[in-house]
Amino acid sequence: TQFEALGLSSPLLKSIAALGYEAPTPIQTDAIPHILAGHDLMGLAQTGTGKTAAFGLPLANRMLASADTAAPRTTRALILAPTRELVTQIAQNLVAFVKGSPLQVAVVMGGVSIGGQIKRLARGTDILVATPGRLLDLVDRNALRLDEVGYLVLDEADQMLDLGFIHALRKIAALVPKKRQTLLFSATMPKQIEDLARAYLKDPVRVEV
Ligand code: AMP
Repeated sequence: TQFEALGLSSPLLKSIAALGYEAPTPIQTDAIPHILAGHDLMGLAQTGTGKTAAFGLPLANRMLASADTAAPRTTRALILAPTRELVTQIAQNLVAFVKGSPLQVAVVMGGVSIGGQIKRLARGTDILVATPGRLLDLVDRNALRLDEVGYLVLDEADQMLDLGFIHALRKIAALVPKKRQTLLFSATMPKQIEDLARAYLKDPVRVEV
C-alpha cells in the first residue's frame, strides 16, 4: 500500500486497513517519512487534514520498533493539546492505531475529577494525551514522571498559546529529557509559534498543507 511505501509496518498497516484509510493525505505523505527517520517536525496544518494520523502512526511505529514490553510501563510519548475535546479525539485515534499492539494510551484533562486520572496513571501508560494545566497538576502530585518521554507532540500550538498555556508549556518542556523527538503542529505560524519552535525543536523539517 501507499502507507507501506511511506515506511510504516505491521501492525499499524493492519489498523490503517481496519480504519478504511485507502491513501495517505498530503500531510501524512509529507510528514510520516521524516518522523519515522527521527527528525523534529513543524507542521502547518488545520484539523481535518489527517494530522493526528500524520504524527500518531509514525510515533507508534517507532515506539513498537523499540518496545520493551517486559519493562514497567512509563510514559514514552506525551501529546499536548489545548482542549478536552481535542485530547479525547486524539486518544480515540491513537487507540485505533495501536489496536493489537502492546502499547497503551491514557488521557488526562482538566474539568473532570483528578482521582480517576491518578489511579489510571498508577497503572502506567506508554502514550499520554493531556491538556497542559492538568498534566502539571498531576506532576505536582507525583502521579507521573516525565523523565522517560522520548516523543513530545504539541498539537494546535497556536490555540494552546491563545488559551494562556505558555507557562505550562515551558514548565513541561523543562521536565522532559533534552534527548527526544519533538513535533509541533499549528494552524497558523505567528512569531510566538516560531519562537516556541526555536526553543523546543532541533533542526525541524517544515511541512505545510
Ligand atoms: P484529523 O485532521 O487528524 O482530525 O483527521 C480528520 C479525519 O480524517 C479523522 O476522522 C480521521 O480518522 C480521518 N483520516 C485521517 N487520515 C485519513 C486517511 N488517510 N484516509 C481517510 N481518512 C483519514
